[in-house]
Amino acid sequence: MQTHWKKLTNPNYLGAYSIENNQDLILTIKNVREERVTGPDGKKDDCVVCYFYENVKPMILNATNMKMITKLYKTPFIEEWAGKKIQVGIEKVKAFGDIVDALRVRKIIPQIEQTEEIVKCSNCGNDIINPSGRMSSVQLAEYTTQKYGQALCPACATKFAQETQNNVD
Ligand SMILES: [Zn+2]
Repeated sequence: MQTHWKKLTNPNYLGAYSIENNQDLILTIKNVREERVTGPDGKKDDCVVCYFYENVKPMILNATNMKMITKLYKTPFIEEWAGKKIQVGIEKVKAFGDIVDALRVRKIIPQIEQTEEIVKCSNCGNDIINPSGRMSSVQLAEYTTQKYGQALCPACATKFAQETQNNVD
């Protein structure tokens, strides 16, 4: 799956022009799906498109960027990319004998920002912070609420998981 460089200038999708002052974007993946994209030249192509929770245009993912997300989060399954954060910036790439600006997923997992909401554990009262940083506090709280019926910090979630297992044995 390759992306024609002309698609990078499709105004309906995130492009190099979406980056201001060369400042990378930190984006949270909402979902990824294949869809038919109409290029500026009117040509239709099936592309992998990534939607974000942030108020930005969707991004067409090429093979390079999908491989990077796979590497960052150790899963090739697009369903498992939902909720993950990526950092997107501009890189100069060669295309058709030209050097053009292309959007690239950076080789780093963005850290949770200080301004992000931190949920308290309803069992011990500590902040819910995921040591791996792959889920935000809010996401982890939602996840544990679904699984254990209350928002739990990783330590309490581990304890609850063990207790549940003991009850089964
Ligand atoms: Zn706790």
